[in-house]
Formats: sequence, structure tokens, C-alpha cells
Amino acid sequence: MDFIPVNEPLLDGNEKKYLCECIDTGWISSEGPFVREFEQKMCMTVGRRYGIAVSNGTAALEVAAQALGIGEGDEVIMPTFTIISCAMAVTKLGAVPVLIDSDPFTWNMKTEEIEARITDKTKAIMIVHLYGLPAAVDDVLALAKKYHLKVIEDAAEMHGQTYRGKPCGSFGDISTFSFYPNKHITTGEGGMVVTDNEELAERCRSLRNLCFRQDIRYVHDEISGNYRFTNLQAAVGLAQLERLDEFVERKRAMGSYYTEKLQGIEGLRFPVAKTEDADNIYWVYGLVLDETIQIDNKTVQKCLAEKGIGTRTFFWCIHEQPVYQKRGLFHGEKYPDAEYLARKGFYIPSGLALTREQMDRVVIALKEVLE
Ligand SMILES: *Cc1c(COP(=O)(O)O)cnc(C)c1O
Repeated sequence: MDFIPVNEPLLDGNEKKYLCECIDTGWISSEGPFVREFEQKMCMTVGRRYGIAVSNGTAALEVAAQALGIGEGDEVIMPTFTIISCAMAVTKLGAVPVLIDSDPFTWNMKTEEIEARITDKTKAIMIVHLYGLPAAVDDVLALAKKYHLKVIEDAAEMHGQTYRGKPCGSFGDISTFSFYPNKHITTGEGGMVVTDNEELAERCRSLRNLCFRQDIRYVHDEISGNYRFTNLQAAVGLAQLERLDEFVERKRAMGSYYTEKLQGIEGLRFPVAKTEDADNIYWVYGLVLDETIQIDNKTVQKCLAEKGIGTRTFFWCIHEQPVYQKRGLFHGEKYPDAEYLARKGFYIPSGLALTREQMDRVVIALKEVLE
């Protein structure tokens, strides 16, 4: 039987048409007209004034952190259970991540634990919405106001999601997106920084492109990198964005279908379908083995792979990353709920191109493996 990959994107809208336009007109670089158009349309979608498209979601975080002036000795609060990009964006600037444990059910940062970790070195809080449900934004915004902190919102997994009716990507000083193929809309590789602050937007534009000085070209006052986004990427992005609502609906239908069909299998914790703040958009469909199951995620994943089912583990916690342990960071720190998710969580095929038949095969395989 065919292997079911963990993710396959849907590219059957206007992607080809817009890409052909790039080829036909010769506009393939970052100077092409689709880039601006894509930035504007993303801004309209999330309710921000300025959008700066960059080469990927990691670059977006790096640009955002640098634009906010995070630097040597600063502390930035973030969840320990997240992608390494969040921590790297901060440590590259000489700042230190201060980590927070996760809620065992929503998998987002326990915002009630943030205040105790604020010090006079704290410069910013990074909100990272994980796996389909938004983090408790209002808690973070209240703390940021009280302690005069900056807020970065990583909305990579939140295309089309809202928090209490407002779009994710519209909160805090600056927000970032990724368009990697496992996100709700993709450009192959790609990312974006969005903000309402004109000065920050200008900083981001400069950081995206080697910090060229405005007055004299090829003269630079600051270190950054080349994080430019091409017209080819924007062509795909525009076609994808046209279908965002449909894609979100599709992911939600997929999530409910899986949850319904998997009911009754012992040993699994399912994603929370809705909270007071939002309905899950299932960035990917994650499962967590519960306390009754002695094995870890890798064992289950291996059995599923033998049945032709692709899966991925959850993120590995920042405090357990060898690169940071080697540097003596996070020594002896413990975040039990996040550590549990990292060892017991995994996600099953949930890309937009997934069919009902494939989902049924995944369900059967999971039943066989766990029973
Ligand atoms: C995917 C992702 C990123 C990184 O995006 P890339 O485009 O892969 O660099 C950052 N943060 C979160 C929460 C993500 O899910």
C-alpha cells in the first residue's frame, strides 16, 4: 500500500497561473510586483498596517527580534515547548530565553507562570500559538503593559485563526508568519513580519536586505543578512491566500473527523476542539499518549511507519536542546508538562491534500497499534 506522508500541500488553485506570469514577464526576484501585493493582502487578512515578506518564518523571528532592539544580556520570555527558531532568534542577538512550561491540554504556554519570571532584564515576551489554538494573548498583553515589555507574536501556525474574534498576527508590537508547506498557506519557503508601527516596519525592511544605508548604497551601519522573498514565492502565496478560508474549513473538518473516528481508542489525549478564545484550526493533528501507556511517541511512530503512515514527533523542549545545554543554559531547569508533550506527543498525516480514504487508513492503523 502507498505510504501516507505526514504532510502534502494543495496547490491546485491559481499557483501555476501566477507563476507563469512571473516567467513570462521575467519578474522572478524580490523586486517583482507580487511581493508588495502579497504583503498588502496578508496585512488586510490579519489587520496590520505593514507587512515585510522574508525568506522563511525563522528569518521573520530574527528580523522581528532585532528590529525590537533585543540584544546582549536581555531576557525574552517564551514557552520551552516550541520550535528552536524562537530561541535562536534571541540567542543570536546575545539575549537569553526565559522559559515557561506548557498547558497539558492546549499545549500553549502557561501564561499564569510568566509574572514570577519577569526580572529587570526582561525585554520582551514571545507569544507562540501552538498546533491550532491561540495562546492566552490577553494575559501577555496585560503583563507587557504593567512591566513595559515588548511583545512578539509568532503566528506561524495560525493563518486564519482568531483569538477572541481578533485575527492572530494582530497582537503585540510585531507578529511573524511562516509559509512552510505544513502551514495553512505555503510559498514553499517563506515568512512575513507584520506590524502597525511604521518605524519598526522600516527597520524590518532594512534588516531584510543587508541594512543598506538609505543615502549611500553599499555602505552599511549594521549587521543583518539577506532575507529577501522572491516574486515566485509571492505568486504562490497570492494563490494560496485566495483560498485561506477554504483551507481553514478543510483543516477543521479534518480535525473533527479524526477526533470522531479515533474516539474509544484507549491511551490517547486528543486535541481540544475549542476553548473560550477560539475553535481549533488544527495546524497539524496532534495526539498525546496518556499515563496509561508506558511506551513513548517514537515506539508508536515506528509501528505506524511499518504500516505506511508518516508521523512526526512534537517539538523538543528548548531547555533540553544540546546546543543550549553545552553553553550551560537552563541547567537543572524542569518543565514537566512540556517534557511530557515532547516525549509522548506526535502528529499524524494532516496536510491539506489528505483524503478521507487516507484518514480512514490512519485511524485503522492507530487502532491496531494501540490495541
Ligand atoms: C514553522 C514554524 C516556524 C519556522 O518557520 P520556518 O519557515 O520553517 O523557518 C516558527 N515558529 C513556529 C511556531 C512554527 O511552527
